[in-house]
Amino acid sequence: TVETTAILYVDGVSVSFDGFRALNGLSLFIEPGEMRAIIGPNGAGKTTMMDVVTGKTKPDTGTVLFGGRHDLSRMDEASIADLGIGRKFQRPTVFEMHTVWDNLVLAVKQRRGVFTTLFARLTGAERDRLDEILAITRLTELRDRSAGTLSHGQKQWLEIGMLLAQEPALLLVDEPVAGMTDAETEQTAELLRDINRTRSVVVVEHDMSFVRALGVRVTVLHEGSVLAEGSLDAVSANERVVEVYLGR
Ligand code: ADP
Repeated sequence: TVETTAILYVDGVSVSFDGFRALNGLSLFIEPGEMRAIIGPNGAGKTTMMDVVTGKTKPDTGTVLFGGRHDLSRMDEASIADLGIGRKFQRPTVFEMHTVWDNLVLAVKQRRGVFTTLFARLTGAERDRLDEILAITRLTELRDRSAGTLSHGQKQWLEIGMLLAQEPALLLVDEPVAGMTDAETEQTAELLRDINRTRSVVVVEHDMSFVRALGVRVTVLHEGSVLAEGSLDAVSANERVVEVYLGR
């Protein structure tokens, strides 16, 4: 057994596709309450890492633990989501015909289990929580708009809100600011910092000015394992990181 305080413990994980090693002994430890940015060139293994954590891909070797005791390598995707791991994919997938508010309500009902509660009203506490989520995601004024009329950035925030409605302890976010305006990008950094006050967050991102705005510890992946870890300034000054980003 492993003794760890980490909310997410990934140790020595390898994954091969047809003999190609997408992850090669990856070790990564996220502490409770931490927000971590994961960067790295295309093909570094960032998506495969997220797939392993969410159960979409099974590791060939290595250990993946949530909260120090749940062995994610033995669980299916639905059970992992139920444990409290939420994943935001790159493209927003909101219900465009429904209002912002109804999208959030649907997310709550999804969490409760569809069949018993589809027609049940939300409790007062649930409504209060959704009001908080609207505020966090900068959507309070837009609650009665249909989601299809939102900007790309606002749709991304709504989808993050829908994940928050499921109250994950760990939120995984894949390139949230791709396609956003500069103003939306800045607000997304603030929004993630707000979310990080109450839960752990892992952000995969290419946009370095956004990573700088997050101001968190950075892990650089390369060829399926960790090349460097530390502040953005520290990893940017690392010779091996510079080589990987500039090409040899
Ligand atoms: P990143 O997200 O950092 O760009 P990925 O995790 O998507 O990297 O991919 C790592 C490597 O694994 C890439 O070379 C990719 O081509 C390969 N790969 C990823 N998924 C598969 C798959 N399902 N089948 C075959 N190769 C894959």
